[in-house]
Amino acid sequence: MDPSAPITQDVMTFPRKETPTDKINLVGLTRDALRQVLIENGTPEKQAKMRAGQIWQWIYQWGVRDFAEMTNLAKAYRAELAEKFEVRVPEVVSKQVSEDGTRKYLVRINGGHEVEVVYIPEEGRGTLCVSSQVGCTLTCSFCHTGTQKLVRNLTAAEIVGQVMMARDDLDEWPEKGAANDGGRLLSNIVLMGMGEPLYNFENVRDAMKIVMDGEGIALGRRRITLSTSGVVPEIHRTAQEIGCLLAVSFHATTDETRDVLVPINKKWNIEKLLEALSEYPKATNSERITFEYVMLKGINDTDEDARRLVQLLKDYQIPAKINLIPFNEWPGSPYERSSNNRIRAFATILMQAGYASPIRTPRGEDIMAACGQLKSATERARKSRKQIEADAGL
Ligand code: SAH
Ligand code: SF4
Repeated sequence: MDPSAPITQDVMTFPRKETPTDKINLVGLTRDALRQVLIENGTPEKQAKMRAGQIWQWIYQWGVRDFAEMTNLAKAYRAELAEKFEVRVPEVVSKQVSEDGTRKYLVRINGGHEVEVVYIPEEGRGTLCVSSQVGCTLTCSFCHTGTQKLVRNLTAAEIVGQVMMARDDLDEWPEKGAANDGGRLLSNIVLMGMGEPLYNFENVRDAMKIVMDGEGIALGRRRITLSTSGVVPEIHRTAQEIGCLLAVSFHATTDETRDVLVPINKKWNIEKLLEALSEYPKATNSERITFEYVMLKGINDTDEDARRLVQLLKDYQIPAKINLIPFNEWPGSPYERSSNNRIRAFATILMQAGYASPIRTPRGEDIMAACGQLKSATERARKSRKQIEADAGL
């Protein structure tokens, strides 16, 4: 190998494993559903709660996939389980490791579809960016995923399975029988991969409940951030039924611009969105709402925009932090990234008004793993450049 060549990529591909079975996958079932499915398959009702608890712990605390290893269950019972059930997570098709340590996985789910999962290591923590849909029904004009039509919602099993797959790859399951040591490699989850999580509410909720369960992966609700483009009617439910932190893809300070960038704005405009956010019950100062704001040259990046943003946050009294995201380009993208000076000037106005406004360093750009670059290349249902430009109103 030429030593002067940039070592930015390390692509590993994995052969396809055996075809899916017709066994019932236990991953992704809530505790109640797990108990129910055990009863339906012959576990005596009186024992079911205890058995479900034991199996739960094997699956989610120690990462065991093989019933034979569940040694606190009777041997005959283990054999019965293995006949009817399986513990299956999405299959890794390829893994790329960026120069900066970011890992991008392409995983295959039922039906041969593929989604991307990104692991971002940071000082003292590591964040897993999880996908909730194959593609996205929304068509934000600056987002690569938005050029891929929705193929389907992910199941709860496929969502929690992404976390389990990453734990496998990081080799982060505690020793069998040991207490959960609250692993540090995968310490946070962001629902910021492909798809709009609030258009797949139940599955996302069930998956996050499993991830938060204390007898398992046990990530606290404040270590999970759900990002939405602004599905207003589901925001209240998110607080009530999931209770995680919230991020919102804001990106513009007038309806005119937001209608183009985030077209869901035509359905629920800035006013309706901010009203819903101001009522997000967890929106205390310690659990501020993250406003994501992609910096697009000449589109949404003026001082006036920054001042308008401050005014909106003050008018609606929303405890907020603003993440400024330098636009990440993708093939055919109709926008350019604002200059560093422009981004800094924008950030200064927000900071002077008292809002934390970190500029997000793009991670894993060399492997197209950065925000908004995800799109499974194998999905053929893609839009043409012309269509992208038409949607962007260019
Ligand atoms: N659908 C959800 C979750 C995806 S989160 C949502 O829109 O919130 C992905 C984040 O990256 C969103 O804030 C999105 O607006 C942003 N993003 C999309 N495309 C981008 C791009 N090309 N450059 C930078 N950020 C982008
Ligand atoms: Fe979908 Fe979010 Fe991309 Fe918009 S930004 S197209 S909602 S994934």
